[in-house]
Amino acid sequence: MTPVVALVGRPNVGKSTLFNRLTRSRDALVADFPGLTRDRKYGQASFGELNFIVVDTGGIDGSEEGIEVKMAEQSLQAIEEADVVLFMVDARAGVTSADIGIANHLRRQQKKVFLVANKTDGIDGDAHCADFYSLALGEIHQIAAAHGRGVTALLEKALAPF
Ligand code: GDP
Ligand code: MG
Repeated sequence: MTPVVALVGRPNVGKSTLFNRLTRSRDALVADFPGLTRDRKYGQASFGELNFIVVDTGGIDGSEEGIEVKMAEQSLQAIEEADVVLFMVDARAGVTSADIGIANHLRRQQKKVFLVANKTDGIDGDAHCADFYSLALGEIHQIAAAHGRGVTALLEKALAPF
């Protein structure tokens, strides 16, 4: 069985940057502005001997009211079909209301969720990430998708069951 790893989170947290790093392709366009990648995007990835599918989602828009409205159909479907969800937040931005809405949804799912704080390059990661414990999704995995920091350690944990 090939595990499916979904990247979810509000726009601009770095989902497509991580997708590109994991797939080593240019399939997912990395935007310099939020919300450009609208649909799910699938990529082949590998970690050691293990092949897995990574899914980039662009549809979560935290600007609207209510999590059902906030989370676009495509993102909800990506969560449903995933074996592992990497819920990405922006360490530099701190907790946003969109993050809280998505976290509330994910806590109601049976899925294995890893809380991933991205953009920890050049900042004090522990200090910036402490607030994310309030999302009640447990351990915070610090990464810098643009540079690769923390990505191997994250995959070791997220893919350990497979
Ligand atoms: P998405 O909307 O969640 O797919 O986010 P993107 O992957 O398009 O990234 C949004 C912005 O954050 C882009 O300008 C990226 O260059 C930037 N970004 C992504 N990862 C990192 C990172 O690890 N460190 C820093 N400093 N910036 C990052
Ligand atoms: Mg994107």
